[in-house]
Amino acid sequence: MNPVLYQGIQPGGQLTITTEVENYPGYPDGIQGPEMMVEFENQAKRMGADIRYGLATKVDFSVRPLRVEIDEEKWIQANSVIISTGASAKWLGLESEQRLNGYGVSACAVCDGFFFKGKEVAIVGAGDTAAEEALYLSKICSKVHMIVRRGEMRASKIMQARVLKTGNIQVYWHSETDEVLGDKKVDGVRIKNNETGEKTEIPVSAFFVAIGHEPNSGIFKGFLDMDEAGYLLTVPGTSKTNIEGVFASGDVQDKIYRQAVTAAGSGCMAALDAERYLSEKELH
Ligand code: NDP
Repeated sequence: MNPVLYQGIQPGGQLTITTEVENYPGYPDGIQGPEMMVEFENQAKRMGADIRYGLATKVDFSVRPLRVEIDEEKWIQANSVIISTGASAKWLGLESEQRLNGYGVSACAVCDGFFFKGKEVAIVGAGDTAAEEALYLSKICSKVHMIVRRGEMRASKIMQARVLKTGNIQVYWHSETDEVLGDKKVDGVRIKNNETGEKTEIPVSAFFVAIGHEPNSGIFKGFLDMDEAGYLLTVPGTSKTNIEGVFASGDVQDKIYRQAVTAAGSGCMAALDAERYLSEKELH
Protein backbone atom coordinates (compact mmCIF):
# COMPACT_ATOMS: atom_id res chain seq x y z
CA MET A 1 0.00 0.00 0.00
CA ASN A 2 0.99 3.65 -0.27
CA PRO A 3 0.18 5.27 3.04
CA VAL A 4 0.41 9.05 3.25
CA LEU A 5 0.56 10.48 6.75
CA TYR A 6 -0.27 14.12 7.46
CA GLN A 7 1.34 15.04 10.76
CA GLY A 8 -1.00 17.84 11.83
CA ILE A 9 -0.32 20.74 14.09
CA GLN A 10 1.81 18.84 16.60
CA PRO A 11 3.99 16.31 14.75
CA GLY A 12 4.43 13.28 16.99
CA GLY A 13 1.38 14.19 19.06
CA GLN A 14 0.95 14.32 22.79
CA LEU A 15 4.02 12.22 23.50
CA THR A 16 6.22 15.01 22.22
CA ILE A 17 5.13 17.17 25.15
CA THR A 18 5.56 14.56 27.84
CA THR A 19 8.75 13.61 29.65
CA GLU A 20 9.51 10.09 30.80
CA VAL A 21 7.37 7.28 29.36
CA GLU A 22 7.66 4.39 31.79
CA ASN A 23 4.98 2.07 30.51
CA TYR A 24 5.73 1.40 26.84
CA PRO A 25 7.00 -2.15 26.24
CA GLY A 26 10.52 -2.55 24.96
CA TYR A 27 12.02 0.31 26.97
CA PRO A 28 13.03 -1.30 30.27
CA ASP A 29 14.60 1.93 31.52
CA GLY A 30 11.82 4.19 30.23
CA ILE A 31 12.27 6.70 27.42
CA GLN A 32 11.65 10.38 26.80
CA GLY A 33 8.41 10.92 24.85
CA PRO A 34 9.95 13.11 22.09
CA GLU A 35 12.77 10.61 21.56
CA MET A 36 10.30 7.74 21.25
CA MET A 37 8.29 9.60 18.65
CA VAL A 38 11.39 10.22 16.53
CA GLU A 39 12.02 6.48 16.62
CA PHE A 40 8.39 5.77 15.65
CA GLU A 41 8.71 8.17 12.73
CA ASN A 42 11.96 6.65 11.51
CA GLN A 43 10.47 3.17 11.71
CA ALA A 44 7.37 4.22 9.76
CA LYS A 45 9.57 5.90 7.12
CA ARG A 46 11.66 2.76 6.79
CA MET A 47 8.47 0.82 6.06
CA GLY A 48 7.54 3.26 3.30
CA ALA A 49 5.18 5.77 4.93
CA ASP A 50 5.10 9.10 3.09
CA ILE A 51 5.15 11.52 6.02
CA ARG A 52 4.14 15.09 5.22
CA TYR A 53 3.65 18.37 7.06
CA GLY A 54 0.09 19.64 6.93
CA LEU A 55 -3.16 19.84 8.84
CA ALA A 56 -6.40 18.20 7.75
CA THR A 57 -8.86 21.09 7.78
CA LYS A 58 -12.00 19.55 6.25
CA VAL A 59 -13.23 16.22 4.96
CA ASP A 60 -15.79 15.04 2.46
CA PHE A 61 -16.67 11.44 3.17
CA SER A 62 -19.82 11.55 0.99
CA VAL A 63 -17.82 10.85 -2.18
CA ARG A 64 -15.50 8.12 -3.49
CA PRO A 65 -12.53 8.38 -3.39
CA LEU A 66 -12.78 9.97 0.07
CA ARG A 67 -11.57 13.57 0.19
CA VAL A 68 -9.49 15.39 2.81
CA GLU A 69 -8.63 19.09 2.65
CA ILE A 70 -5.09 20.00 3.74
CA ASP A 71 -4.19 23.41 5.21
CA GLU A 72 -7.39 24.93 3.77
CA GLU A 73 -5.75 24.98 0.37
CA LYS A 74 -5.72 21.63 -1.38
CA TRP A 75 -7.82 18.49 -1.45
CA ILE A 76 -6.30 15.02 -1.50
CA GLN A 77 -8.10 11.81 -2.35
CA ALA A 78 -7.81 8.42 -0.68
CA ASN A 79 -9.50 5.06 -0.99
CA SER A 80 -9.33 4.65 2.76
CA VAL A 81 -8.69 7.06 5.64
CA ILE A 82 -7.39 6.26 9.10
CA ILE A 83 -8.12 8.97 11.64
CA SER A 84 -5.56 9.25 14.45
CA THR A 85 -6.00 12.92 15.31
CA GLY A 86 -5.64 12.36 19.05
CA ALA A 87 -6.79 14.73 21.73
CA SER A 88 -5.80 18.23 22.94
CA ALA A 89 -5.45 19.90 26.31
CA LYS A 90 -8.55 21.16 28.11
CA TRP A 91 -8.80 24.57 29.76
CA LEU A 92 -10.71 25.65 32.86
CA GLY A 93 -12.64 28.31 30.94
CA LEU A 94 -11.79 31.33 33.10
CA GLU A 95 -11.48 34.73 31.43
CA SER A 96 -8.18 35.38 33.26
CA GLU A 97 -6.81 32.03 32.10
CA GLN A 98 -7.47 32.94 28.48
CA ARG A 99 -6.22 36.52 28.80
CA LEU A 100 -2.92 35.43 30.38
CA ASN A 101 -2.38 32.46 28.08
CA GLY A 102 1.21 32.67 26.91
CA TYR A 103 1.96 35.22 29.68
CA GLY A 104 2.41 32.68 32.43
CA VAL A 105 -0.60 30.47 31.72
CA SER A 106 0.32 27.25 29.91
CA ALA A 107 -1.03 23.74 29.33
CA CYS A 108 2.43 22.28 28.87
CA ALA A 109 4.86 22.33 31.78
CA VAL A 110 7.48 20.50 29.77
CA CYS A 111 7.34 23.15 27.03
CA ASP A 112 7.20 26.23 29.25
CA GLY A 113 8.45 25.24 32.71
CA PHE A 114 12.00 26.35 32.04
CA PHE A 115 10.91 29.99 31.69
CA PHE A 116 10.05 29.91 35.39
CA LYS A 117 13.28 28.49 36.69
CA GLY A 118 13.72 29.21 40.39
CA LYS A 119 10.21 30.73 40.70
CA GLU A 120 7.05 29.58 42.48
CA VAL A 121 4.39 28.16 40.16
CA ALA A 122 0.93 26.59 40.40
CA ILE A 123 -0.55 23.62 38.59
CA VAL A 124 -4.18 22.50 38.48
CA GLY A 125 -5.20 18.87 37.98
CA ALA A 126 -4.82 15.54 39.72
CA GLY A 127 -4.34 12.95 36.99
CA ASP A 128 -1.11 11.38 35.78
CA THR A 129 -0.41 14.37 33.57
CA ALA A 130 -0.69 16.81 36.48
CA ALA A 131 1.41 14.56 38.72
CA GLU A 132 4.09 14.14 36.06
CA GLU A 133 4.18 17.85 35.30
CA ALA A 134 4.26 18.81 38.99
CA LEU A 135 7.28 16.53 39.44
CA TYR A 136 8.96 18.01 36.39
CA LEU A 137 8.33 21.54 37.66
CA SER A 138 9.57 20.66 41.15
CA LYS A 139 13.02 20.07 39.66
CA ILE A 140 13.15 23.50 38.00
CA CYS A 141 11.04 25.76 40.19
CA SER A 142 11.49 26.71 43.84
CA LYS A 143 7.96 25.61 44.80
CA VAL A 144 4.98 24.01 43.09
CA HIS A 145 1.46 24.69 44.39
CA MET A 146 -0.79 21.87 43.20
CA ILE A 147 -4.52 22.57 43.13
CA VAL A 148 -6.70 19.46 43.45
CA ARG A 149 -10.48 19.75 43.35
CA ARG A 150 -11.31 16.61 45.34
CA GLY A 151 -9.84 15.01 48.47
CA GLU A 152 -7.94 12.48 46.38
CA MET A 153 -6.02 12.25 43.14
CA ARG A 154 -6.89 10.32 40.02
CA ALA A 155 -3.20 9.73 39.19
CA SER A 156 -1.68 6.25 39.53
CA LYS A 157 -0.53 5.30 43.04
CA ILE A 158 3.16 5.49 42.16
CA MET A 159 2.85 9.00 40.71
CA GLN A 160 0.80 10.17 43.71
CA ALA A 161 3.39 8.79 46.10
CA ARG A 162 6.16 10.61 44.24
CA VAL A 163 4.23 13.88 44.35
CA LEU A 164 3.41 13.59 48.04
CA LYS A 165 6.98 12.88 49.06
CA THR A 166 8.44 15.74 47.05
CA GLY A 167 9.30 18.46 49.54
CA ASN A 168 8.66 21.49 47.35
CA ILE A 169 5.22 20.41 46.07
CA GLN A 170 2.35 21.65 48.23
CA VAL A 171 -1.03 20.07 47.53
CA TYR A 172 -4.23 22.04 48.16
CA TRP A 173 -7.07 19.51 48.51
CA HIS A 174 -10.74 20.32 47.80
CA SER A 175 -9.58 23.44 46.00
CA GLU A 176 -10.74 25.10 42.80
CA THR A 177 -9.24 27.93 40.83
CA ASP A 178 -11.25 31.08 41.36
CA GLU A 179 -9.09 33.40 39.27
CA VAL A 180 -5.64 33.63 37.76
CA LEU A 181 -4.23 36.94 39.00
CA GLY A 182 -2.18 39.42 37.06
CA ASP A 183 -2.56 42.23 34.60
CA LYS A 184 -0.05 41.67 31.80
CA LYS A 185 1.48 38.51 33.27
CA VAL A 186 0.61 35.96 35.92
CA ASP A 187 1.48 37.10 39.43
CA GLY A 188 -0.74 34.81 41.45
CA VAL A 189 -3.73 32.55 41.68
CA ARG A 190 -6.80 32.77 43.90
CA ILE A 191 -8.14 29.42 44.99
CA LYS A 192 -11.36 28.53 46.77
CA ASN A 193 -11.81 25.63 49.15
CA ASN A 194 -15.01 23.96 47.96
CA GLU A 195 -15.80 22.60 51.43
CA THR A 196 -15.29 25.71 53.52
CA GLY A 197 -15.68 28.41 50.86
CA GLU A 198 -12.43 29.98 52.08
CA LYS A 199 -10.44 31.86 49.43
CA THR A 200 -6.65 32.02 49.40
CA GLU A 201 -4.30 34.01 47.16
CA ILE A 202 -0.99 32.37 46.29
CA PRO A 203 1.72 34.47 44.63
CA VAL A 204 3.08 32.54 41.63
CA SER A 205 4.77 33.40 38.34
CA ALA A 206 3.08 30.74 36.25
CA PHE A 207 -0.14 28.76 36.16
CA PHE A 208 -0.13 25.37 34.47
CA VAL A 209 -3.34 23.64 33.48
CA ALA A 210 -3.25 19.82 33.39
CA ILE A 211 -6.88 18.74 33.56
CA GLY A 212 -7.11 16.30 30.70
CA HIS A 213 -7.84 16.43 27.01
CA GLU A 214 -10.59 16.56 24.44
CA PRO A 215 -10.67 14.59 21.20
CA ASN A 216 -9.71 16.35 17.95
CA SER A 217 -12.76 15.29 16.01
CA GLY A 218 -14.38 18.61 15.06
CA ILE A 219 -13.79 18.29 11.31
CA PHE A 220 -15.62 14.94 11.19
CA LYS A 221 -18.90 16.28 12.59
CA GLY A 222 -21.75 15.58 10.23
CA PHE A 223 -19.99 12.53 8.77
CA LEU A 224 -18.92 10.34 11.66
CA ASP A 225 -20.80 9.15 14.72
CA MET A 226 -19.34 10.42 18.00
CA ASP A 227 -20.33 10.47 21.65
CA GLU A 228 -21.40 13.58 23.56
CA ALA A 229 -17.75 14.42 24.39
CA GLY A 230 -16.74 14.15 20.71
CA TYR A 231 -14.95 10.78 20.86
CA LEU A 232 -15.41 8.93 17.55
CA LEU A 233 -17.49 5.78 17.83
CA THR A 234 -16.12 2.60 16.35
CA VAL A 235 -17.69 -0.83 15.96
CA PRO A 236 -16.58 -2.67 19.14
CA GLY A 237 -13.53 -4.84 18.59
CA THR A 238 -12.66 -3.04 15.33
CA SER A 239 -11.53 0.40 14.15
CA LYS A 240 -14.52 0.77 11.78
CA THR A 241 -16.49 4.00 11.88
CA ASN A 242 -20.02 4.37 10.47
CA ILE A 243 -18.54 5.19 7.05
CA GLU A 244 -17.11 2.35 5.01
CA GLY A 245 -13.39 2.75 4.43
CA VAL A 246 -12.94 5.26 7.27
CA PHE A 247 -11.22 3.91 10.37
CA ALA A 248 -10.30 5.52 13.69
CA SER A 249 -7.51 4.73 16.12
CA GLY A 250 -5.83 6.20 19.18
CA ASP A 251 -7.09 8.81 21.62
CA VAL A 252 -9.64 10.32 19.24
CA GLN A 253 -11.73 7.19 19.76
CA ASP A 254 -10.55 6.11 23.22
CA LYS A 255 -11.56 7.90 26.36
CA ILE A 256 -10.73 5.06 28.70
CA TYR A 257 -7.21 3.74 28.19
CA ARG A 258 -5.41 6.61 26.38
CA GLN A 259 -1.96 5.10 26.67
CA ALA A 260 0.78 5.16 24.05
CA VAL A 261 0.70 1.39 23.88
CA THR A 262 -3.09 1.14 23.49
CA ALA A 263 -3.03 3.90 20.87
CA ALA A 264 -0.29 2.07 18.95
CA GLY A 265 -2.25 -1.19 19.22
CA SER A 266 -5.43 0.39 17.91
CA GLY A 267 -3.38 1.95 15.10
CA CYS A 268 -2.30 -1.54 14.12
CA MET A 269 -5.96 -2.64 14.14
CA ALA A 270 -6.87 0.28 11.87
CA ALA A 271 -4.05 -0.55 9.44
CA LEU A 272 -5.22 -4.18 9.22
CA ASP A 273 -8.88 -3.13 8.85
CA ALA A 274 -7.93 -0.67 6.09
CA GLU A 275 -5.86 -3.26 4.26
CA ARG A 276 -8.68 -5.79 4.42
CA TYR A 277 -11.18 -3.22 3.19
CA LEU A 278 -8.97 -2.23 0.25
CA SER A 279 -8.39 -5.88 -0.71
CA GLU A 280 -12.10 -6.69 -0.55
CA LYS A 281 -12.87 -3.72 -2.79
CA GLU A 282 -9.90 -4.59 -5.00
CA LEU A 283 -8.56 -1.10 -4.53
CA HIS A 284 -4.98 -2.23 -4.13
P1 NDP B 1 -7.26 12.64 33.47
O1 NDP B 1 -8.57 12.79 32.79
O2 NDP B 1 -6.81 11.30 33.94
O3 NDP B 1 -7.22 13.59 34.74
C1 NDP B 1 -7.69 14.90 34.68
C2 NDP B 1 -7.56 15.51 36.07
O4 NDP B 1 -7.93 16.87 35.99
C3 NDP B 1 -8.46 14.83 37.08
O5 NDP B 1 -7.79 14.70 38.30
C4 NDP B 1 -9.62 15.81 37.20
O6 NDP B 1 -10.19 15.84 38.48
C5 NDP B 1 -8.94 17.13 36.95
N1 NDP B 1 -9.87 18.11 36.40
C6 NDP B 1 -10.65 18.01 35.29
N2 NDP B 1 -11.36 19.13 35.09
C7 NDP B 1 -11.02 19.96 36.09
C8 NDP B 1 -11.42 21.26 36.44
N3 NDP B 1 -12.30 21.95 35.70
N4 NDP B 1 -10.87 21.82 37.55
C9 NDP B 1 -9.98 21.14 38.30
N5 NDP B 1 -9.55 19.91 38.02
C10 NDP B 1 -10.07 19.32 36.93
O7 NDP B 1 -6.21 13.30 32.46
P2 NDP B 1 -4.63 13.14 32.36
O8 NDP B 1 -4.26 14.05 31.27
O9 NDP B 1 -3.97 13.36 33.66
O10 NDP B 1 -4.39 11.64 31.92
C11 NDP B 1 -5.03 11.09 30.77
C12 NDP B 1 -4.60 9.65 30.57
O11 NDP B 1 -3.23 9.57 30.20
C13 NDP B 1 -4.74 8.81 31.83
O12 NDP B 1 -5.19 7.54 31.48
C14 NDP B 1 -3.34 8.77 32.38
O13 NDP B 1 -3.11 7.62 33.16
C15 NDP B 1 -2.51 8.76 31.11
N6 NDP B 1 -1.16 9.33 31.33
C16 NDP B 1 -0.11 8.49 31.54
C17 NDP B 1 1.17 8.98 31.76
C18 NDP B 1 2.30 8.04 31.96
O14 NDP B 1 2.06 6.85 32.08
N7 NDP B 1 3.53 8.48 31.99
C19 NDP B 1 1.44 10.42 31.78
C20 NDP B 1 0.27 11.22 31.57
C21 NDP B 1 -0.98 10.69 31.36
P3 NDP B 1 -11.10 14.65 39.04
O15 NDP B 1 -10.14 13.56 39.42
O16 NDP B 1 -11.77 15.29 40.20
O17 NDP B 1 -12.03 14.28 37.94
